[in-house]
Amino acid sequence: MYEISQETVIAAAHQLRLAPGEGERLHGHNWRIKAVIRCEQLDSRGMVLDFNDLGRELRAFVEPWEHVFLNELEPWNDVNPTAENIARVVAEELGKKLDDARVRVVRVEVWETDTCGATFYR
Ligand SMILES: [Zn+2]
Repeated sequence: MYEISQETVIAAAHQLRLAPGEGERLHGHNWRIKAVIRCEQLDSRGMVLDFNDLGRELRAFVEPWEHVFLNELEPWNDVNPTAENIARVVAEELGKKLDDARVRVVRVEVWETDTCGATFYR
């Protein structure tokens, strides 16, 4: 089994909704988002996937979240923008773009800080 991964960073604000009528203060993070792709058989070039292709798709998906207040955007106006939920949404959407008969997006890690991260496994 082979895995490759790529990371990107976005600076964005969020405000978690806690109990009804209760929420965090608005604050920001430099979110580190890492996507991991897996396959059993390398392609004819000896690659899982070209890092450029992985990086471009990952970046294209998260680019609209750069320097914004996430809670104002879909799906974060409805879904709490936790690291866990962000990891799931990125994994599912990236999977729609990159999964094929050979490769699969298997997990996404989202780090809010150097020491606090969440992982979603597909
Ligand atoms: Zn936060």
